[in-house]
Amino acid sequence: MIKVFNTRKSFDQYRSAITNKSIGLVPTMGNLHEGHISLLKSSIEENDVSIITIFVNPKQFGPNEDFNKYPRTLEDDLTKIENLILHLKLDSKEVVVFAPLSNDEIYPEGFSTTISIGDLKTILCGKVRPIHFDGVTTVVYRLFAITKPHQAYFGQKDYQQCVIIKKMIHDLELPIKMHIKPIIRNAMGLALSSRNQYLTNEELEKALYLPRTLKKIENLILNNEDYQTYINQQKQDSNWDYLEVLNSENLNSDFKSNDNLVIVAAYRMNQTRLLDNILVQRNNRN
Ligand code: AMP
Repeated sequence: MIKVFNTRKSFDQYRSAITNKSIGLVPTMGNLHEGHISLLKSSIEENDVSIITIFVNPKQFGPNEDFNKYPRTLEDDLTKIENLILHLKLDSKEVVVFAPLSNDEIYPEGFSTTISIGDLKTILCGKVRPIHFDGVTTVVYRLFAITKPHQAYFGQKDYQQCVIIKKMIHDLELPIKMHIKPIIRNAMGLALSSRNQYLTNEELEKALYLPRTLKKIENLILNNEDYQTYINQQKQDSNWDYLEVLNSENLNSDFKSNDNLVIVAAYRMNQTRLLDNILVQRNNRN
């Protein structure tokens, strides 16, 4: 029912035959969960053809990171996509999976270009993952070039990534509409992530401290209470990589009283870094 392509050659043949249809792209590293599926669902609703890419991008992992152990579950991923399609009325819509089996399909021999965004890549996650965002912008640019989408779907879960990709699209004047979709959480409130499976049940329970802290900060902000003292207290716990309130547009820390804000955080649970954030809309309040 879905078309699956593992090589550039077969994918390019398919892509070049598409004319006069709107194309949505959902870039992923696979090991799909409801967060990814929600992005695909939006793309299917809003486009004639939806392309979901599954590629664990080596360029965005540092030397001591989890590239080798990152979960690769292509068969299960395809089943999840099939299940979604069974539940949707597809009519004439198409869903395509591009899951290159080798890195050369994305970075052919001799590939030597890096797309690099400037200062935004050095803050927050960039402090502990110095090469990460160069890898992200380079792969996303490659996936844009290969799939040539009209619209692309990303999760708010990786908020810094969203701001960076939005800036790349703007700076390079790419003719692509970017959509940022809400974070999908488990029943307890923890943001879904492929890396959650590295955690034990006990750690999953403890990890709820992350969304609960963000919620508490949101309430303090909305009630015009002193959130900074609360943040400083939480930061006594050295497992926070960062816990900050920033301008949601540009991630600046010097914002005005009615700027929209984002509370962003990374919390370390042993070897695993968990990300979460909450958007706080202030400039449309009376
Ligand atoms: P990844 O496979 O981790 O590269 O993620 C692929 C896309 O799914 C990215 O745009 C992520 O931000 C998005 N995503 C990951 N987790 C979630 C989530 N819990 N809710 C919504 N989107 C998500």
